[in-house]
Amino acid sequence: MKNLRLLAVGLLFAPTYLIAQSTAPSPLSPYISVSSPVVALTHVEVIDGTGAAAVPDQTVVLDHGKIASVGPSAAAQIPGGAKSLDLHGHTVYPGLVGMHEHLFYTEPGSAALHAFSTGELTETAPRLYLAAGVTTARTTGSIETYTDLRMKQAIDSGAMPGPDLDITGPYLEGPGAFSIQMHVLSGTADATRLVNYWAKEGATSWKAYMDITPAELRAAIDAAHAHGQKLTGHLCSVGFTEAANMGIDNLEHGILVDTEFYSGKKTGVCPDQRPVEQEMAAKLDMNSAAVMAMIHTLVAQHVAVTSTLAIFESFVPNLPPMRFLEREQGPMFSEAWSGVLQTRAQIAEHASQSLWPVLLKKEMQFEREFAAAGGLLMAGCDPTGYGAILPGFGDQRNLELLVQAGFTPARAIQIYTQNAAKYLGRDGRIGTIAPGKQADLVVVTGDVAKDISAVEHVDLVFKKGVGYDSRKLIASTRGMVGIR
Ligand SMILES: [Zn+2]
Repeated sequence: MKNLRLLAVGLLFAPTYLIAQSTAPSPLSPYISVSSPVVALTHVEVIDGTGAAAVPDQTVVLDHGKIASVGPSAAAQIPGGAKSLDLHGHTVYPGLVGMHEHLFYTEPGSAALHAFSTGELTETAPRLYLAAGVTTARTTGSIETYTDLRMKQAIDSGAMPGPDLDITGPYLEGPGAFSIQMHVLSGTADATRLVNYWAKEGATSWKAYMDITPAELRAAIDAAHAHGQKLTGHLCSVGFTEAANMGIDNLEHGILVDTEFYSGKKTGVCPDQRPVEQEMAAKLDMNSAAVMAMIHTLVAQHVAVTSTLAIFESFVPNLPPMRFLEREQGPMFSEAWSGVLQTRAQIAEHASQSLWPVLLKKEMQFEREFAAAGGLLMAGCDPTGYGAILPGFGDQRNLELLVQAGFTPARAIQIYTQNAAKYLGRDGRIGTIAPGKQADLVVVTGDVAKDISAVEHVDLVFKKGVGYDSRKLIASTRGMVGIR
């Protein structure tokens, strides 16, 4: 009887449910402004991601998720039925491939509890990355790995907007972990166990952290490689040269976190940060034989470096400019915003003692030297620190800082597109604008080749040929960064 009643209820509801399902709009539709299968972007300046100079007045045709053709507008053949967009005064470049794109955010007020505590930005981070033009993102260290994996599933299935995600497993960290949210490895077997477990659960990349022991690092690298996956590190206990010789694939942040040049460095131990930074600021010469030898080892061992200039800049007194920060205010939870302003004011008060103006310059110089020596330089936004750098916004700032560091805008774009795609082994599919490539593209107002800050003025982000409205994505996050 009871079963029959349930059946009756089921029958009653079934038709409405089916109707609702068939007519319900896609959860993505509020953010999509171009959905035609064939689109022509006409009279647009193209920066193709290879490092080549910008080419004016081009027409790019997108056909069913792929780039069909690129060429001078005067000679363009636009297929009948294509949606044509006149993009005079705009620049198009490949969708960014962000290589340090956490899905969490430093919690407002967390300093009182722990040195580092984060909350997952399940709704806002994917939208903000996509809004800024990031169409592929490596998460480079997870706090809630299951949450990150389910976010990836939700994006892949079309349940929410966001970039294609390469999910990094939990931080591989040793004793001394400064966040209570990190697992502390108990030895090499534990490092291997952790990698094997999370690889099975769906993680596809790895990140070692500051206090990992050399033996654990070696074990983690071997375990990751056994799965055909790569491992990066924000290292401290292990220097760059030592890690390169162990077979690490990538190093985060650059020379500012390389402790191998510090006079007080002990094997396998992460030293206190302040004296390392003081010595680096005062003494370390980026053109010295020792630094050049480290760079040559990285290049010889094919170790990539991820630039994270934006997060470093946030420690420099009175930077980033308020003009930049104010763009982030709308998406931020009010308490997160006031926390950022307070910390920024404290940093400004102690400006005379700050090492960061010098350190940022040294890091920029290192990145130039590394790239000039043939090293694979990539970039990401690393939305951590005291919360001033948000997903996506930080990537745009990083592009601007790469140009400040001496790269041309076209090279800065290449670092953020083709270089990262190569590292991921996806350069046959993404990272450049060429016929046959996936239609992942960013359309901005302005001339990026003349003024890199045009990357802040994103109009459209195409992911697999679908055009998302950047402003709508950002507007939808209003007041939520710092909450969810
Ligand atoms: Zn990180």
